[in-house]
Amino acid sequence: MKHIVIIGNGIAGITAARHIRKNSDHKITVISGESDAFFSRTALMYVYMGHLKFEHTQPYESWFWEKNKIELKKAWVTKIDPKNKSLLFSDLGTMTYDQLVIATGSVPNKFGWPGQDLKGVLGLYHQQDLENLEVLAPNKEVCKRAVIVGGGLIGIELAEMLHSRNIPVTFLVREQSFWNGVLPAQESELINKEIKEKQIDLRLGSSLKEIISDENGRVKSIVIEETGEIVNCNLVGLTAGVRPNIDFLQGTGIATNKGVLVNRFLETNIEDIYAIGDCAEQKEVSKNRRAIEAVWYTGRMMGETLAQTLTNAKTAYKPGHWFNSAKFFDIEYQTYGWVWAQTKENEARFYWEHRNGKKCLHFNYNKQSLEFIGVNSFGIRLRHEYFDRALSEKQSITQVLTHLKAANFDPEFYEKHEAEIITQFNRENQTNIQLK
Ligand SMILES: Cc1cc2nc3c(=O)[nH]c(=O)nc-3n(C[C@H](O)[C@H](O)[C@H](O)COP(=O)(O)OP(=O)(O)OC[C@H]3O[C@@H](n4cnc5c(N)ncnc54)[C@H](O)[C@@H]3O)c2cc1C
Repeated sequence: MKHIVIIGNGIAGITAARHIRKNSDHKITVISGESDAFFSRTALMYVYMGHLKFEHTQPYESWFWEKNKIELKKAWVTKIDPKNKSLLFSDLGTMTYDQLVIATGSVPNKFGWPGQDLKGVLGLYHQQDLENLEVLAPNKEVCKRAVIVGGGLIGIELAEMLHSRNIPVTFLVREQSFWNGVLPAQESELINKEIKEKQIDLRLGSSLKEIISDENGRVKSIVIEETGEIVNCNLVGLTAGVRPNIDFLQGTGIATNKGVLVNRFLETNIEDIYAIGDCAEQKEVSKNRRAIEAVWYTGRMMGETLAQTLTNAKTAYKPGHWFNSAKFFDIEYQTYGWVWAQTKENEARFYWEHRNGKKCLHFNYNKQSLEFIGVNSFGIRLRHEYFDRALSEKQSITQVLTHLKAANFDPEFYEKHEAEIITQFNRENQTNIQLK
């Protein structure tokens, strides 16, 4: 019987394991040093915020693994020996495999800041980070102020978490406006306002120079690079992005760049070794996509795809149309297709904002052909299938706007605002087509 070993029990590794089991009787072992079993990383914030218990982030109960004959092993892999098809664990145990899947996810970036390893400095990625946070910042008496470094999706989650326990937060964002490398100016500004409304001390155009220690090796304060200002704090959250968790592969002969290099079939340069999820870097990137996409659903898709290859027919990874979702405090964000931060030469945009300043729709389309390219939405839940189809069918912006009622989950909301949105579109007269 073939033994498939998967390093990493995140969404990528576990999806692969589940689908391998669906299609075959192969022996499957899933290894992780972090946790006994799969949990939803994206739900970690809700544990700290008291909405969920940690066990609620685990969608499969313990009998599931036994019943499906998926063996779970809690251990850190320190070395891979491809020649002998074996793994070495940190406790010096070993394991052999016939086929190996590397699904080791990411680690938070650290940029060599002085003081970055002090007590009181953490990232927000692993279960252990959450446990540390509970110790370092249980309440505002123990943690009088926290500083968060890096204005991305994880930084704003950490800000919301600390805010939920009334811990004052200073948020250092290097850019002049929040996440403006990804979001157009309007959406970015909307989030700046939302963050400030929550009484977060948002410092735009500010980066970290160093973290200063007290006499016990604990964080005492930080220094802001641009101004030299010192901010006293008990906790520093480093949320300046993530990178593939692949350091342990050095010297194994497995080709890496930023991540583990894979072809369209998720194969590495070494036979019978594959990589999926956050740690995988595509050698041939599909149009407009990035070589490394550290998001949940692409990890799931890679897991499903690879399972086909390992049990059935060799299958290429096809990520489909880009979409993503997140939450910025109370504002839900969704994106389908592409609405880049800057409008490209062949593109035109249509932006509508609700008067409460918390809801908006931003459409991107081709200026000449009117083909719909993408949409950002804040505070309005859109239907995935609708936009996936619109993109596949290369619908025009006018087609998309005409049927927008069917595209969102809250028809009542849309009924209220449909006239306003269409009137604004007609008034701007970007397409010379008047919608009814
Ligand atoms: C706070 C937070 C919020 C997020 N929110 C969103 C969101 O809203 N939407 C979205 O799309 N994405 C979100 N993401 C990103 C998403 O969670 C990741 O893209 C996804 O979880 C990656 O899955 P993975 O299976 O590739 O890796 P991981 O989930 O990282 O799993 C890899 C596992 O392998 C283990 N491992 C690594 N090295 C070894 C080793 N040598 N030996 C043994 N075990 C090892 C790791 O400890 C880990 O348990 C969020 C991430 C975080 C941290």
